[in-house]
Amino acid sequence: MVVATPGAVESSVARSNPIDLLIVGAGLTGLSAAQRFVRQSPGRSCLVVEAQDRVGGNITTRSGNGFLWEEGPNSFAPTPELLQLAVEVGLKDQLVFADGKLPRFVYWDGRLQAIPMSPGAFWNSTLLSDRGKARLLLGAAGFVPPILGATVQARGGEETVREFFTRHLGQETMERMVDPFISGVYAGDPDALSASAAFRKMAAMQAAGGGLAAGAIRTLLAKRRAAKTAPPADPNLPKPKSGELGSFREGLQMLPEAVAKELGDRVKLGWRVEAIARSSNGDYTVDLATPDGPRQITTRAIVLATPAPATANLLQPLAPAASAALHAIPYPAVACVILAYPETAFAQSLRGFGNLIPRSLGLQTLGTIWASSLFAGRAPQGWAHLINFIGGAQNPGLINKTEAEIADIVHGDVRRILLKEDVAPKVLSVKLWRRAIPQYTIGHADRLATLHRELAAWPGLFPCSNYEGGVALGDCVRHGWDQAAEVDRYLAQLPV
Ligand SMILES: Cc1cc2nc3c(=O)[nH]c(=O)nc-3n(C[C@H](O)[C@H](O)[C@H](O)COP(=O)(O)OP(=O)(O)OC[C@H]3O[C@@H](n4cnc5c(N)ncnc54)[C@H](O)[C@@H]3O)c2cc1C
Repeated sequence: MVVATPGAVESSVARSNPIDLLIVGAGLTGLSAAQRFVRQSPGRSCLVVEAQDRVGGNITTRSGNGFLWEEGPNSFAPTPELLQLAVEVGLKDQLVFADGKLPRFVYWDGRLQAIPMSPGAFWNSTLLSDRGKARLLLGAAGFVPPILGATVQARGGEETVREFFTRHLGQETMERMVDPFISGVYAGDPDALSASAAFRKMAAMQAAGGGLAAGAIRTLLAKRRAAKTAPPADPNLPKPKSGELGSFREGLQMLPEAVAKELGDRVKLGWRVEAIARSSNGDYTVDLATPDGPRQITTRAIVLATPAPATANLLQPLAPAASAALHAIPYPAVACVILAYPETAFAQSLRGFGNLIPRSLGLQTLGTIWASSLFAGRAPQGWAHLINFIGGAQNPGLINKTEAEIADIVHGDVRRILLKEDVAPKVLSVKLWRRAIPQYTIGHADRLATLHRELAAWPGLFPCSNYEGGVALGDCVRHGWDQAAEVDRYLAQLPV
């Protein structure tokens, strides 16, 4: 049996030995798992260790000179779990929502074109040709060619995102609407992403036949039926309107900070897990580097709420096949370039969510969020700031560029798309994420199956991160909560 935590340790570590649960990583996934676990199992001990000196992981809000900006995620789809978490940690009054009706634009044919959100707007839109619209409607109605081609057959029918959407909605919709979305939102490559892994719900919609439109209607009806039998929604939760995106008055960082505050001294910053081993009695021993030197903790269960490469390194000695599967998940680099301009510099009103840019145009910027148009108080009077994304799976050379070069490229694209004159921007930040967002590429489901198959031999070890179940912040909260319940079930069946 391994001895835990040397020296004078804090109460949460010292209270029990072994502790019940160690959560590695204080990003939103790990913090959500911890918050749920502590609430549902108040008698059990839990510790969250975070390698950095701050909580939140990718969530990074910064401010200065009257601006408030996000260098990672910029907003969230207000899922019930995320809203409930925000309310539970006391942030109900701090929630802010961006108008769901704000238009989203695609830069096409030399100008910004609104993505049509209604049948009337669809007919009047020039984003697609008449032929492209007809192809989209026919495909959505179920007139879809079968999967053809030896390559797809050899993959067991697993289609890339490009193959799936071209087959269902046509080449124009793929190029002008789906591709900008894939590259702008997921920093992804439609020729590499797996449709069934990255667009699970859409793939399921078409599986039942009748096309995507019929699938969408079936999904909607099923949701309505489920809503009738579901327990009444918590009246304390805010009820955002359809299409609204959320944040907090002082930015997204408020959420991880509030969760960490609730967890108190259960959260340890600057504590990096370096190795995990299993004792003969089934407990795990964990070696950590901490600001006070090396420590060892013994725990009955571990949640690895760390990105795939970090999880892979920790699992290597225990589960080499799982480790290799995790190492195979690509995380392309993305830079968030935050530029501010006087409002008078823009060629048109900035009323909108932002603009996406199809890859076929050859511009390097993936997309731009008109950030100060979404939430109040993000820029001083007379100024606007833009969050631009550049890099991603289709631009691996980004990491070889300097920050100044990256800012110059993005400003050039902003100048072309949004400005009426060449005004030098205030460069608020160039934040390079060397490993930004996990890509659910062809073979992703097999990789996850390998991970879980091998970890079945290591009961009590739970991988839980955004490489599974979705990358959106709401997915991270749901996944963390589900994981907390699973850990609880696991601990309950252990001998006392
Ligand atoms: C640029 C960018 C923009 C995005 N935009 C949006 C958006 O607008 N909306 C949205 O919903 N989602 C967005 N996302 C996705 C979303 O931010 C992520 O999916 C989510 O934040 C991941 O949270 P996580 O807790 O799973 O992982 P992370 O945030 O990566 O947290 C993992 C934590 O584990 C820690 N860690 C790693 N190794 C160790 C170790 N050995 N010991 C201890 N700690 C360790 C890390 O330091 C880190 O803090 C964006 C992501 C990026 C990168």
